[in-house]
Amino acid sequence: MTQRPEQKVAPSSRYAAGQAPFVPPWPVEVDLHLHTTASDGTLSPARLMDLIGATGLMVVAITDHDATAGIDEALAHAARLPRLTVVPGIELGTEDGDSEIHLLGYFIDYRSRELLDTLTLFREERVEAARQTVRKLATLGVNISWDRVRELAGGAVGRPHIARAMLEAGYVRSVSEAFERYLGSDGAARVPRPKLPPLDALDLVHRVGGVGVVAHPRTVKNVDLMVSRLAAGGLAGIEVYAEKYGQEERQRYQALARTYGLVECGGSDYHAFGSEGEVLPGVSGPPPETPQRLLERAHSLHGDRVGCVPAGMA
Ligand code: AMP
Ligand code: ZN
Ligand code: FE
Ligand code: FE
Repeated sequence: MTQRPEQKVAPSSRYAAGQAPFVPPWPVEVDLHLHTTASDGTLSPARLMDLIGATGLMVVAITDHDATAGIDEALAHAARLPRLTVVPGIELGTEDGDSEIHLLGYFIDYRSRELLDTLTLFREERVEAARQTVRKLATLGVNISWDRVRELAGGAVGRPHIARAMLEAGYVRSVSEAFERYLGSDGAARVPRPKLPPLDALDLVHRVGGVGVVAHPRTVKNVDLMVSRLAAGGLAGIEVYAEKYGQEERQRYQALARTYGLVECGGSDYHAFGSEGEVLPGVSGPPPETPQRLLERAHSLHGDRVGCVPAGMA
């Protein structure tokens, strides 16, 4: 009998072209994870809202990396569309030892001086890391222009902007290849930047009247321990309907949510990269009552001092 070679199954990921997203049994009305040109998304907030206006989505959150500059434009534009509520949010990169966690914050007072000053510092650190990455790439024979990277990054600069500059210059065939070979955690040109410990990031979100949610938990090392610590610090939720999680992964994070009393959240993490297999907003998402459940958590943490309650939510 001939042995069949063992098939290697790629982990389900938002970047894996072959994987299908989870299509829930409930109407897809909520997407709590979206990026714009304020960080590494390629659509302006207005264009993103137009795209969303053509879906069945009714509540969305703008969650740019270390930036809130897209929120006002999204709110203003969404006000012209029927039935669309925009929740002001943020995505903070955090680190505990070698464990990296992306923390989402919702209902934040996105005009808070403390928040704005802190985010300005994070964006300066991003610029420094990106500059060093471009230098490191040059030593590896990959010559891209720093000015072009800055041009591609209107707001908070990130590795995707570098990846796009590499793609344009013909050094890689896709953004994914740039991450695999150069920019990802094992990449040859990886330059780490300073990040807050997860509990400090959660405290920051709380100080500006928000609630915290763990993003794409599949990317978190020691996820059980990390979530237990954050839960003790008042974490409100965890993404379950995120990336292209299969049933087993969803059940794993659902179990964590139940253990720690967390709201089961999620969103597309849409960047409009235009890459093969990218999940569009409106295809998948958490149950329709999710935003209200998160807002209840915000009220129980902050009483009537929630950072920002969008019009249309009480
Ligand atoms: P940074 O903000 O510089 O830490 O870059 C992180 C961002 O890079 C993530 O939020 C994603 O948008 C993107 N990213 C991470 N890994 C990949 C990948 N393998 N392929 C494409 N984009 C990625
Ligand atoms: Zn991103
Ligand atoms: Fe993230
Ligand atoms: Fe994200």
